Amino acid sequence: MTQKAVIQGFPRPDHDHAQCVEQALERAEAVCRERGERFTVLRRLVFELVWNSHRPVKAYDLLELVLRHGRRGSPPTVYRALEFLQAAGLVHKIESLNAFVGCADPERPHSGQFLICDQCGIVAELEDAAIASRLDADAKRIGFNLATVRVEATGRCKSCRSSGTARPSGGS
Ligand SMILES: [Zn+2]
Ligand SMILES: [Zn+2]
Ligand SMILES: [Zn+2]
Repeated sequence: MTQKAVIQGFPRPDHDHAQCVEQALERAEAVCRERGERFTVLRRLVFELVWNSHRPVKAYDLLELVLRHGRRGSPPTVYRALEFLQAAGLVHKIESLNAFVGCADPERPHSGQFLICDQCGIVAELEDAAIASRLDADAKRIGFNLATVRVEATGRCKSCRSSGTARPSGGS
């Protein structure tokens, strides 16, 4: 078996999201402290707003939310905070949606694969090293040098499937 890791699965609809956010904040703070980076008030706020849900958020929606929080952050500062969070691996950009989600494993740099539910919009993150190495090997075979790899798959998550009109097809 190849090693597969689920970085962030689809959360149960009734999970304690406040705890998710709290944990994410603690980890983000620790990551910044360890790397000697500042987790400024604005960075923290933007991070919290991204983590507000497990759905990707667009940059301009974040900007609006920041302003609604009474911060007079100008667009460039908000976007810079977002860039910092992305570069630090604290949030990921979902390119196909041009939006951001929080990462549940920021301590370790990685390039994950994303599963996007097209019903509820929630995104799960996987890290399957076999996908990356297979693609790399195939690319090399035709003389192609990979620079970036993005895997963003759409589909339907378990809870959306079971709450839909179709009956859940067994399983836990
Ligand atoms: Zn949550
Ligand atoms: Zn991640
Ligand atoms: Zn769903």
